[in-house]
Amino acid sequence: MSCKILIIEDEEKIARFIELELVHEGYEVDKCTDGREGLTKAESGNYDLILLDIMLPGLNGLEVLRRLRKTSSVPVIMLTARDAVMDKVSGLDLGADDYITKPFAIEELLARIRLVLRHKGGNAAQQSEDLTHEKLSLSVSRHEVHYGEDLIDLTAREFTLLQTLLENKNIVLSRSTLLERVWGYDYMGETNVVDVYIRYLRSKLDDVYGVHIIHTVRGVGYVIKD
Ligand code: CA
Repeated sequence: MSCKILIIEDEEKIARFIELELVHEGYEVDKCTDGREGLTKAESGNYDLILLDIMLPGLNGLEVLRRLRKTSSVPVIMLTARDAVMDKVSGLDLGADDYITKPFAIEELLARIRLVLRHKGGNAAQQSEDLTHEKLSLSVSRHEVHYGEDLIDLTAREFTLLQTLLENKNIVLSRSTLLERVWGYDYMGETNVVDVYIRYLRSKLDDVYGVHIIHTVRGVGYVIKD
């Protein structure tokens, strides 16, 4: 049975583009351009996931989300403008499952959709399951990382960075995405802090065990690949 996705986005070119890509991937798609109409549709319970723009006529996306969350836990991915930091924070506070910053690569949107659907499909036990990669395993609940039998001593930041990479396996994460997700939206320091922490992780894992866990994608970012 295919998943049904509702796109609430008033820029018709963007909505149409996303629709074509999603249909191509085998999703059923419905779309609307107005916040009020979008809320009514989203509340219908007919959708597995909602893509929600923020700047919308009728009702803005944050208000749509706030009202929707009173009755529904349907997964929502917000479409936010670059640098609209407050929108991202508010969206997540209001119960959005994820967000993606426009303009985005369609591959990243598809990957985020798959992740959100997978998380929602799983039960709580699956969600707290260890994240693993070959001999590496990370337990979110115990806040521990093992390589084989060895317990790896990581700082809190190194742990979150590794967790983020493992949760997004096979998705190349840019430095700015990693900065936002690991250091927070309001981080004002050097962007090369990401490279520095990747080096720390490699010195504790790759260098010790003679493996190559975190790949650098030149000019783009970092990824852990299956
Ligand atoms: Ca808009």
